[in-house]
Amino acid sequence: MTDIYVKNGFLLTMQGEGVGSIQDGAVAIEGNTIVAVGKTADLDKEYGGAEHVFDAKGKAVLPGFVDAHVHTSNTLIRGEGQDVPEIEWMLKTQAPFGPHHRPGDRLLGSALGVLEAVKSGTTCFGEIGGNMAPAAEKVFGPSGVRAHLANTINEIGPGSRPDPHKPYIFFSDIGERKLKESIEFIDEWEGAFDGRITTMFSPHAADMMSEELLLRVKQEANERGMMSHIHIAQGGREAIQINLRYGTTIVKHLDSIGFLDNTIIGAHCHQTSDEEVALLAKSGMRYVSCPASIAVIDGITPPLALYLASGGVSAGIGSDQASGNNHHNMLVEMKVAALLNKCRHTDPTVLPAWKMLRIATIEGAETIGLGDSIGSLEPGKKADLLLLNLKVPHMMPIITTPVPNVAPNIVYSARGDEVETVIIDGNIVVRDREVLTMDEEKVMEDAQKASTAITESAAEDFFKADSYLAKAVKKGLL
Ligand SMILES: [Zn+2]
Repeated sequence: MTDIYVKNGFLLTMQGEGVGSIQDGAVAIEGNTIVAVGKTADLDKEYGGAEHVFDAKGKAVLPGFVDAHVHTSNTLIRGEGQDVPEIEWMLKTQAPFGPHHRPGDRLLGSALGVLEAVKSGTTCFGEIGGNMAPAAEKVFGPSGVRAHLANTINEIGPGSRPDPHKPYIFFSDIGERKLKESIEFIDEWEGAFDGRITTMFSPHAADMMSEELLLRVKQEANERGMMSHIHIAQGGREAIQINLRYGTTIVKHLDSIGFLDNTIIGAHCHQTSDEEVALLAKSGMRYVSCPASIAVIDGITPPLALYLASGGVSAGIGSDQASGNNHHNMLVEMKVAALLNKCRHTDPTVLPAWKMLRIATIEGAETIGLGDSIGSLEPGKKADLLLLNLKVPHMMPIITTPVPNVAPNIVYSARGDEVETVIIDGNIVVRDREVLTMDEEKVMEDAQKASTAITESAAEDFFKADSYLAKAVKKGLL
């Protein structure tokens, strides 16, 4: 018997080249798989007797969002690192908080980030971080979401970065340990939680490890038929390091050592010339752009539209982290991505709403290597989808001719609280705006307690670092 049947909705299936709209559409789900997509009138007879029936009249039904580059573990210091010069962001606003996180705190941050994201329609997280096993076990798995995870590998230890204008000091023993742990993580977690957890490799960034280790990580990934998710050209800090070490730019360096190809998921890529973006696109590298995060941290619009116009194979977007971007909300991210890129090119035709919706769903899934199983509503795909209420003042009226306005209204007007139902892997994870798999009050309370302890304990170090933001606080401006 059919488990879930969604009917009478305005479907955005992502089939074909655009959003693949079907008015009065229906989706049938058996187990964790979509078995039918079509007009309600055509599907009703066969699937109408499903165990759970959702009447989606006045609602949009679309694939769940793929947040292709995210660090939910940083959510506990939301709002503590904006409005500073780029060179200060990591070293003067993030680093002071790091040592004050107690064991387990980052998991509480992750839970808060996942709670926020899933309530606004994110069903898949492309997360990389220092130690993902506890997050897979305690947050991503039990919360019912899908996650494509990797342990980051670098050779950075305490004392590695005393001066941003001198080469970082690498510790090869740290690199060896992290590579070993990364492989152990993959062996243990690939396919866990009924296949909702999948894995990849993640060399952290080319300025944080030796060239030799960087190439070894890529080789380990390629030998397993896996992908490598790496930060590339992520700002002035990295540019200084690469120039000190190799006397060139990051993109030219990675190209010259044969690192770039279609097994690489490159995040950010904003410290680049137009020619370098074209080089990245032609290399086959898949691109994840984090427009809001990079706008906040670097004051730069990352080259999402330019990468695609240069022939890039596949691009997604990511929310990155709450201590820069400030949110894990893909609806907001789509709008920011579209607006910033229109401004970068002084061209309002850049990244239209239909394209942004594809980038946040099917193309984001393809970018991180999951395009065959998620990202669109079609038979055979995993059942990851959301129902979004259109009958709220800022989404009304619903117009179907001449311009069907559901896609533009989602990209330009939705803010997250329209998402009513979220189904992931055939399970109902959010119903009537309530997350069924998490104790929402407890997640927020635990995060608040941990955040208060961290920030109070780190305050002295934060002020000692004396960032632009610390000066603003001292002046009483916040
Ligand atoms: Zn990142």
